[in-house]
Amino acid sequence: MTIWICGTCGVEHPDTAQPPATTCRICADERQWVPESGQVWTTLDKLAADGHGLAHQEMEPDIHRLNREPPFGIGQWTHLVQTPRGNLLWDPPNHLDQQLVDKIADLGGVAVIVASHPHMYGSQVSWSHELGSVPVLVHSADRQWVQREDPVIREWSGVEQVLPGVTLIEAGGHFPGAAVAHVATGSDGRGTLLTGDTIVPVVAKGWVTFMRSYPNKIPLSAGLVRRIVDRLEPYQFERLYSLLGGTILTDAKAAVRNSAERYIAWVGGANDHLG
Ligand SMILES: [Zn+2]
Ligand SMILES: [Zn+2]
Repeated sequence: MTIWICGTCGVEHPDTAQPPATTCRICADERQWVPESGQVWTTLDKLAADGHGLAHQEMEPDIHRLNREPPFGIGQWTHLVQTPRGNLLWDPPNHLDQQLVDKIADLGGVAVIVASHPHMYGSQVSWSHELGSVPVLVHSADRQWVQREDPVIREWSGVEQVLPGVTLIEAGGHFPGAAVAHVATGSDGRGTLLTGDTIVPVVAKGWVTFMRSYPNKIPLSAGLVRRIVDRLEPYQFERLYSLLGGTILTDAKAAVRNSAERYIAWVGGANDHLG
């Protein structure tokens, strides 16, 4: 059985004797990109055997970050959230090897797998099979982007509490089903938000941005950014962890709100006299 993995986004494809004959659909989309030299495929077995390492960081009690070193694909900043009723594997890794399997077992295993959006589907089905066929939750609006179908996949939408104190929120924007995960017990009870690509910290401390495409710099509209902020309004969060290592460690909710107001002013034309 050969599981084919896109060399650019790192998303798994069905097992076939030969690599897929087509370009990866996720990378052909305007939010991603295909290398100038053309589509590249690798396999789960090759990725496991290529001499990489694993970085484990406890971000705070019960929230862990697991990174492949060097990174592969988009980067896959996986988080594992521990709860008394089992753990959430958020933005599952695109590679699967014994070192990572052992680390996840040390952390208490996994009860449910959720990717924030299709760029982060990684090897979600392979991981589910490895971990006892735990459910893989896919937002129903983004189901068309699943490349490897499997009975472990279950659809969700809206707001869903997946584990005690861990709530998936359909924030939209980057993808219609782009999700954030709210951990109520995070940040010493002040709340922590895992944001994937929906909300991404920028270089200046305490600020974030919101994009349809990060590599291709395609913005979102004022309306979509307003909707993201509105959907998060009921939740408190002191800290925020996004993709590619971006973090806000204090007063994250205010950072999101202030950044959204700045963004909306610019895309809405309120600052045109400055340009
Ligand atoms: Zn791809
Ligand atoms: Zn993305």
